[in-house]
Amino acid sequence: MNNNLATMATLLQRQQQAHTQQMSVTAAQRQERIQQVINLVVEHHQQLVEAIEADFGGRSQAFSIMNDIIGSLGSLKYTRDNLTPWLESESRAVFAPYDQLGSSARVEYQPKGSVGIIGTWNAPLYTLLAPLACVLGAGNRAILKPSEVTPHTAALVAELFAKHIDPLLVSVVTGGADVGAAFSALAFDHLVFTGSTEVGKKIMAAAAENLVPVTLELGGKSPVVLSESADLAESCKRIALAKSNNGGQLCVSPDIVYVPRNKLDQAATRLLESFRQFYPQITDNPDFVPSVNRQHSQRVVDLVEQARTAGYDVRSSHEVTSLAALVAADKRLPLQLVIAPNKDAHIMQHEIFGPALVLLPYDELEQVISDINSRAKPLALYYFGEQPDELKQLLANTSSGGVSVNDCLMHAALHDAPFGGVGASGMGHYHGREGFLAFSHQRTVFVAPEHDPRGEWGLLPPHHAQFKEMMAAQVTAD
Ligand code: NAD
Repeated sequence: MNNNLATMATLLQRQQQAHTQQMSVTAAQRQERIQQVINLVVEHHQQLVEAIEADFGGRSQAFSIMNDIIGSLGSLKYTRDNLTPWLESESRAVFAPYDQLGSSARVEYQPKGSVGIIGTWNAPLYTLLAPLACVLGAGNRAILKPSEVTPHTAALVAELFAKHIDPLLVSVVTGGADVGAAFSALAFDHLVFTGSTEVGKKIMAAAAENLVPVTLELGGKSPVVLSESADLAESCKRIALAKSNNGGQLCVSPDIVYVPRNKLDQAATRLLESFRQFYPQITDNPDFVPSVNRQHSQRVVDLVEQARTAGYDVRSSHEVTSLAALVAADKRLPLQLVIAPNKDAHIMQHEIFGPALVLLPYDELEQVISDINSRAKPLALYYFGEQPDELKQLLANTSSGGVSVNDCLMHAALHDAPFGGVGASGMGHYHGREGFLAFSHQRTVFVAPEHDPRGEWGLLPPHHAQFKEMMAAQVTAD
């Protein structure tokens, strides 16, 4: 398909016309639309995971079923099964004395129209279909733009939607950054973007031209706070497992671990040991997801090698003669720990998004809090420990998209709670009822009483001499 601006603009216009012709979409119709997508995913899941495997050069099909197929189906089914009460209008309080005179007010939830969804490669199906679940649940139509970094998946998604779904309900356009730029300049009724903070800024600027509201699902350097009170072995096992998930290529992947100074060596050893236990061998290990391509693999190696060259302590879960050789092989890298780098190290300035972690020693929790607050607000924050006061202090004095306690990643998997970033890690939410609200217009409807009392109250013009005094008498502080 030729995805030039005019073609995409025409498609959007046709979707928006279809929306205007059927603005009211019943719960049953929304459920039936979501079911069409569920059926597509279930029927073609094998082809889809094969495409993802080809794109990554070896992401195991079982992992892709868990991450992208079950993850997407979970979002779609949750919305399908819970949306009916969300559609009900909500009665709201009316100001006195109109409330005594028979007036009423309510909030109605109206579909916005056509929503653009730009996905990324690390979860090439999930980052399209999880937002789509909420978009369809809110009664909208959608145009999807998959990432060009996973081209087999993008082409298959386009083919399957064209074959099974009415293009006026959901269409797919494919292409790279140029298509993404043209896409984000269209006058959608809402735009959802999952990707980097840098591109997120461009998306928001382009959307601003048409006053298109945006949901930005971005990334960042998510910190882990390992408390003195934590079970070190179990915590390190869980952190190593989370870090290895999708080869470290997750938006909520742990990035920096704060460790009590006296436990730094012990924690490093435990993390590396746990990683080795999960993955006794790295190269050719089908359980370990490789970097998506050589460029991304090399980017991670560059962050680590820059720290090594700068003289920092770098430790590896597996003995390696050359990380660069692993990039040239199957792009699977062992876990790299960079110990106590300064703020100017490259690995402290960029999201790692691969199998490496920074370990920072600390003496007091206040230090950790102030360090976290010195950087952009992260997408996730993790606490491992058994001290409720400490956790309370951490939560009260930091901000992040979400939090998991005594594990990583888990909060992002909840279908019944909002998922999204804050500050540089994003804006807006999807998942659950919050996703429905994000893609619905919340429209207040006021119904006036039969009798208009304003004449009797002396409020209608021409105003009498005491009008100002009457108004001023209402200016009270109680
Ligand atoms: P990216 O920003 O490079 O690309 C994402 C999408 O944007 C792709 O579809 C791409 O074609 C498109 N794009 C690129 N340049 C564009 C432009 N100028 N205008 C419009 N569109 C453009 O991100 P990436 O490298 O593919 O993904 C990695 C990032 O995504 C990481 O930062 C990660 O944390 C983040 N991420 C966030 C979430 C989340 O839910 N918060 C989930 C997954 C990944």
